[in-house]
Amino acid sequence: MKRSSFLYFARFGIRTVLLQKKDPILGTVILTDKCNLKCKHCSVNNITAVIYPYQQIKEEMKQLYDMGVRILFFCGGETFLWKDAGKQLRDLVVEAKQMGFLIVNVVTNGTFPLNLPEADLILLSLDGGREQHNKVRGDTYDTIMENIGNATADNICFYMAINQINKNAIRDVCLLAKNTPNVRAVSFNFHTPYPDTKDLALSREEKADCCAVIAQMIKEGAPVFNLKSAFPYLIDNRFPTPCHQCVVMENGRRSTCGRCIDIPGLCEKCGYFFVAEYTLLFRGNLKIILEMLRTYLRYI
Ligand code: SF4
Ligand code: SF4
Repeated sequence: MKRSSFLYFARFGIRTVLLQKKDPILGTVILTDKCNLKCKHCSVNNITAVIYPYQQIKEEMKQLYDMGVRILFFCGGETFLWKDAGKQLRDLVVEAKQMGFLIVNVVTNGTFPLNLPEADLILLSLDGGREQHNKVRGDTYDTIMENIGNATADNICFYMAINQINKNAIRDVCLLAKNTPNVRAVSFNFHTPYPDTKDLALSREEKADCCAVIAQMIKEGAPVFNLKSAFPYLIDNRFPTPCHQCVVMENGRRSTCGRCIDIPGLCEKCGYFFVAEYTLLFRGNLKIILEMLRTYLRYI
């Protein structure tokens, strides 16, 4: 991370904590909900399958920038399916950087060639070793590993949503993150139980077991892009929600925290690690602040 970006985030953090402000810093633009996969745990693919137009995406980026957002995520559906007006995903990443976003990340299922050297991180969904991953995401593991091998930059971070199918695969994914060229780290979430995927949710005890494995892997030197200090809050779902510093734009509509905010009762069962990490950070939790500094400086 550049020194100027670090100072910007430090100033934002201090202002937010001391003045208890609710200004956003992290924004997500949904490019489409169209997807080439139909993962078992997913509730958001192909509801409309519309590819949102370039001008609209650009306006949403501008709106987020004007609100003060400086960490931008592009999300889907599958982001690599996005194309409009002669532009592709990579053009959006370059434009976001030119617009002034300090960190630009892309979330993908990894089934398309990974040619995004300008992105700070490519968050690539990997849900276990071959067997568990393919159970969740269809027969895609080998394609993904081939794409990682051929990627044009070492900016990949595995993104694993832990659920009933893959809860025993944490160690494998940590080792894979450590030993695979072009992969920098792994970032975890617990499955967030949308009404149609409740069966995949973990119990409190299962979450505690998963966190113990992740903590052990961190101790053994695995590159984990999460904050251990947030684990007790994640296990008991006792972190504050929603995250006021996070906003999502989808098809002209802005939501605070996630597009899931309107689903009754979901926030109390939220499994997104970033929500716990950011809300605790901006409440001034000292352990989280120090660990976030160390972790972000190591992986971005
Ligand atoms: S790749 Fe992502 S958007 Fe597509 S079905 Fe899987 S989880 Fe859903
Ligand atoms: S806190 Fe609520 S709105 Fe935010 S990501 Fe979790 S479930 Fe979605």
